Amino acid sequence: MSKVSCEIIKDMLPLYYDGVCSDDSKRMVEEHLSKCNACKIELEKIQDDIHIPEKTIMKNRKDSNVLKNISTSWNRLRLKSFIKGGLISTLLIASIILIYVGLFKWDIKSVSTDVAVISDISETEDGYIIFYSEINDGYRLSRLKYDMDREGNFYVIPLRTIIKEEAQPPYGLEKFYNFIDIKDQELLRGKEVKTIYYGTPKDKILIWQKGMELPKTSEEVKKQFGLN
Ligand SMILES: [Zn+2]
Repeated sequence: MSKVSCEIIKDMLPLYYDGVCSDDSKRMVEEHLSKCNACKIELEKIQDDIHIPEKTIMKNRKDSNVLKNISTSWNRLRLKSFIKGGLISTLLIASIILIYVGLFKWDIKSVSTDVAVISDISETEDGYIIFYSEINDGYRLSRLKYDMDREGNFYVIPLRTIIKEEAQPPYGLEKFYNFIDIKDQELLRGKEVKTIYYGTPKDKILIWQKGMELPKTSEEVKKQFGLN
């Protein structure tokens, strides 16, 4: 054993470890340590005490990296679901628009002739067929479609949207003087017009047939078309 007691060395070990003791003290401690195992173990304990927090820090750092990774993959998931959600809502909006157009804007449904009244059918000197058509169910008519089949049957088809809209004055196609320029239609379609119907091939009202005598159009109606 050395002249310096282990107690004094133990007191000095922290200072020695931190390197803040004088050169003399340092020499003294080292000399003691070279001979005293108990104090060497004390020094190792100090080193361990210091090292444990470092290890803990390293571990914490690892943990925080794990957390970072989790948060990164969480963000990736969120981005994925965000994109997914975006696609889904785009599809949803597209479907809603299609349904809306289909139900409210697409003139697809022909109107039954049960609610149609054709009156005041006449013929002008130029061969126009003029008639008044009225839809009486109180709902709007969106369009009249003209169609002709191979046999020369000409159809004036009243169409409306699937979701009906109430007809409001001033009325349009619901109460309407219409005229068919037969010569023009024959020229356009390259076929002779033999009959004119209001409605569809399955549900129709005859307006005119070839050879049918029609009253001459009144001056009053002609004026409406600017035919005089
Ligand atoms: Zn000692």
